[in-house]
Amino acid sequence: MIDFTLAPADIALRDRTRAFVREHIIPYEQDARLSSHGPSDALRVELNSLARDAGLLAPHVSPHYGGLGLSHVQRAIVFEAAGYSMLGPIAMHCAAPDEGNMHMLELVANEAQKEQYLRPLATAQVRSCFAMTEPKPGAGADPGQLATRADKQGDHYVINGEKWLITGAENAGFTIIMARAFDGAQELGPTMFFARLPQAGFRIERIMNTIDSSFTGGHGHIKIENLRVHQDDVIGEVGQGLKYAQIRLAPARLTHCMRWLGAAQRAHDIAAAYAAQRTGFGKPLIEHEGVGFMLADNEIAMHMCRLAILDVAWRLDKGEHARHESSMAKVFVSEQLYQVVDRCVQVLGGSGVTDVTVVEKIFKELRAFRIYDGPSEVHRWAIANRVSRKQTPRH
Ligand SMILES: Cc1cc2nc3c(=O)[nH]c(=O)nc-3n(C[C@H](O)[C@H](O)[C@H](O)COP(=O)(O)OP(=O)(O)OC[C@H]3O[C@@H](n4cnc5c(N)ncnc54)[C@H](O)[C@@H]3O)c2cc1C
Repeated sequence: MIDFTLAPADIALRDRTRAFVREHIIPYEQDARLSSHGPSDALRVELNSLARDAGLLAPHVSPHYGGLGLSHVQRAIVFEAAGYSMLGPIAMHCAAPDEGNMHMLELVANEAQKEQYLRPLATAQVRSCFAMTEPKPGAGADPGQLATRADKQGDHYVINGEKWLITGAENAGFTIIMARAFDGAQELGPTMFFARLPQAGFRIERIMNTIDSSFTGGHGHIKIENLRVHQDDVIGEVGQGLKYAQIRLAPARLTHCMRWLGAAQRAHDIAAAYAAQRTGFGKPLIEHEGVGFMLADNEIAMHMCRLAILDVAWRLDKGEHARHESSMAKVFVSEQLYQVVDRCVQVLGGSGVTDVTVVEKIFKELRAFRIYDGPSEVHRWAIANRVSRKQTPRH
């Protein structure tokens, strides 16, 4: 039987997260250490220490590595509360790409690698990045086009290639690189490697100017030149990189949905308060049906998004891969929340496109979400392929 009752402990944790974000984190939204390339590392470290003191650091990580060991359903509740400020997930160290990396490393890395890489990451001593996407003609929506190569030389691999849109590369303590491994002429397949940063072979050419601005370190364009990594720094097995990318991506795209739902709720609360207080044509704007209906549509959309997220989280907790459902949720939530915040901008009138409120910033962030962790069209294409495979031949 389906039961949506939350355990008292989960409600308490959600409420504690809400209070933490409202009282301690939102005041930092005007901090001078925020730039168009995200919060600085000094700010990130300060926020992490607040979350650590509040017992809210890395809640998704298992207690063995210092976290709270939350299930996916519990993450849905807590990450939404964290997302109410775009600095909440940064403070609680449950933002992309670190959160997805931690999740994958707990499942795939060996014990020595976990001590070396996961433990300092989980405790926020370092940040990390995930380097998969390449400029054309390399890997983008189609990871099969991976062009970065790792050539085996004795007990090392030498990696060469180019990556871009790599979130958090600047000042990261290590990176996970996806490259096509070769042993001489023999191709071994897409493989994930650790590399400590900074190092000369992983050169950040520039931080790209993007529509969004909430990720620490921005998004880097990287040249990888003769980067030597030891074979002990292969993550999991050689040739299994795409499989591990899937292990990382299905939950990672869902946690984006959770955090952005919190941000959209914030935009909606601001728009609803404005519409209740601002008058026009003899009454509060909210009493004009055109405005009231926009807010009603927001409530409907966010409720449906919350249910979609909880369904996938519940499936993941049961041990399902939930690829089909997480694809559907990613498309639905990213597109619905974009429309929610677009309506919030409209309700706020001219101030909606200014920095008088945080709504303008949330709107820009949500535009990018329709592209990363799989553009909507790629998910629809994958969903359509599954529909097609289910059909019995008619001739
Ligand atoms: C803010 C941001 C942060 C990111 N962070 C990271 C990161 O940390 N690490 C990392 O490795 N990557 C990162 N990315 C890259 C992201 O994963 C890619 O942008 C995404 O996979 C799409 O690849 P692409 O940009 O090369 O688009 P392309 O592959 O060139 O695709 C362009 C468009 O073509 C369409 N399309 C593609 N395939 C199909 C299809 N089969 N059917 C229909 N339409 C299709 C889609 O509309 C798509 O948007 C980030 C991107 C953004 C915007």
